[in-house]
Order: sequence, then C-alpha cells, then structure tokens
Amino acid sequence: MEKLTIVIPAYNEEEILQDSLRTLIKIEDQLIQSQLFDFKSNILVVDDGSTDRTWEIIQEMHQFNSRIAGIKFSRNFGHQNALMAGMQEAIKTAAAVVTIDADLQDDPNAIPEMVDQFVAGKDIVYGVRNNRETDTWFKRNSALLFYRTLAFLGVRMVQNHADFRLMSRRAVKALLTYQERNLFIRGVIPMLGFPSTNVYYKRRPRTAGKSKYPLKKMIAFAWEGLTSLSIAPVRAILFLGVITVLLGVAALVYSLLSKFLGLAVHGWSSLMISIWILGGLQMASLGIIGEYIGKVMTEVKQRPRFTIETTVGGNS
Ligand code: UDP
Ligand code: MG
Repeated sequence: MEKLTIVIPAYNEEEILQDSLRTLIKIEDQLIQSQLFDFKSNILVVDDGSTDRTWEIIQEMHQFNSRIAGIKFSRNFGHQNALMAGMQEAIKTAAAVVTIDADLQDDPNAIPEMVDQFVAGKDIVYGVRNNRETDTWFKRNSALLFYRTLAFLGVRMVQNHADFRLMSRRAVKALLTYQERNLFIRGVIPMLGFPSTNVYYKRRPRTAGKSKYPLKKMIAFAWEGLTSLSIAPVRAILFLGVITVLLGVAALVYSLLSKFLGLAVHGWSSLMISIWILGGLQMASLGIIGEYIGKVMTEVKQRPRFTIETTVGGNS
C-alpha cells in the first residue's frame, strides 16, 4: 500500500491549526474512501519553533487521531527549512508528499486532483492560484515585479505558485541533493526536471491568525531568492563599473580640452554630482558583493538547516 503524507509548516498557528488539521483529515478520508487507488495517508506538522500553543495542539491532535504526527524544531528556522524537514521525514515512508500552509489559504480541495496527477505519472504537481483578489494591491504587484525580475535574470519559476505542491519520493530525493543552506525551494524545483504539471485553485484570505510574512520578511525572502538563484546583480555591477569608467574617460577628455582651449573653470556642481553618484555606486556595489560573500560564508560553514528538538507520532 502506498502512502501519501501532507506536510504542514506551522509557526505560531494556535488560532487556526486545529481547524486546518480537521479539514485535512476529512479530505484524506474522502480520498481513501474514493478508492481510486490503494493508499493510506497521514499528516506531518513541523512546528517551526512556535512560542504559542502550537506544539500542545499538535500533541492533542495526535491523541485525537494517530495519523497526525509532529516534528518540533528547537527554534525558528524559517518556513523553507520547515518544509525541507517535513519532506525529508515524510519520504522515509511516503510515496508522495503534499506541502500546504497551516492557514489553508491554498485550497486543500485541490489535493485529490494533485493525487490524480501523481497516479497518472507526474512527479511534481504545482498548485497554482488563479486569482489574487485576496491579496492587497501592493502584494499582487510586488509579487509580479519579483517574478518578472527573476524571469528577466533567467530563473525559471512557476508563476503564482507558492509552496503548495505534490512531489513524488524520487523528486524529493533529488531536491535533497541540493545542499544549499538557504534553499529557495520554489526556485530550485523547476531545475529538478521530472514530469510535472499544474493544478489550479482559488486562494482564500486567512480566516484566523496573522500572516507570518510582514513586509520586512517578504522583502528579505524575495532578496534571498534573487541572490541565491542568480549572480546577475554582481554582473550588473561590473557593467555599471565599465560604463562609469567610460564616462570618466569622456569627462577627462572634455576637461583637458576645455583647459587647453582656455575655457573657464567649471563650478563645483559637476564635482559634487560625480562624487555623490560614484560614492553611492561604490557603496551599493560593495553591498551587493558583500551579500554574495556572506552567502559563501554561510554555505562554507555547512551548518544544519534545522535542529529537531522532539517528535510526536511516528511513521505509521
Ligand atoms: N511559517 C513557518 N515559519 C516561519 C514563518 C511562517 O513555518 O518562520 C509557516 C506558517 O505557519 C504558514 C506558512 O509558513 O503555515 C506560510 O505563512 P503565512 O501564511 O503567514 O504567509 P502568507 O500566506 O501570509 O504569505
Ligand atoms: Mg498564509
């Protein structure tokens, strides 16, 4: 009998987790009853260092239904690492893994369709939202800008797909061979290859609890994705540098000519402008290069992506 595991990252989700787990159990039950294929299923919640009652709720829910299991991180390691931990654990026994956020903003009713696609031979099934009305104007447009920028830099990503997807065991295994500490999962998955397809759904607003991605974290996440998937920003600096040098040479020729032709000495505005613009460019360039050096440093350290403090429920 094949197994399907639903992996849920949860960080301070006490307000919503219980309802979400009940909903998912129902969906799994329907899947099992439909008997379209022969499999059993369970749910694995990864508590990403929550400071509220999330872990207690996971333990209670395990009592209520032993198909619900949990992993507790020793501290907050971030959404992406929680997903990696969950998938890594799940494929020890499961043939396929579905990842979904704890708030069920991504419609879990799309899961049966994902499973259909898996049974039909797909290794990766992307959940793609076909509406963004529930997002603010700002989130919609900033997301669009982000995808456009990455596409421009040559990074392939599935638009309007977040981390709601199904993956087969071999696809997860392939993903696990990507050893980056700061893995931007949705940017790496299209690189894996394997037969894949999309399943469309409507994204809903959060019914309880707050988004764990305030603006600051969202920008950090986007920047992380950009700089870990592309070295184009450093190339852009090189390009800017070359242009600046050419402009400098032109300015030199101009000033020499004006000196020899006896034209009046120009005021300080040109000086000020060039000092500030060049200074700014240099600082920005150093900052971007520093960012990449910082990345090299974190990778060199080879620290673990996460540390598990304890678990509840096993792989049954
Ligand atoms: N999450 C996590 N660790 C974090 C931040 C978020 O595991 O440090 C989880 C969170 O509990 C949720 C999912 O990641 O299950 C997505 O977060 P959220 O719904 O707050 O993001 P949004 O939908 O607003 O982008
Ligand atoms: Mg959400």
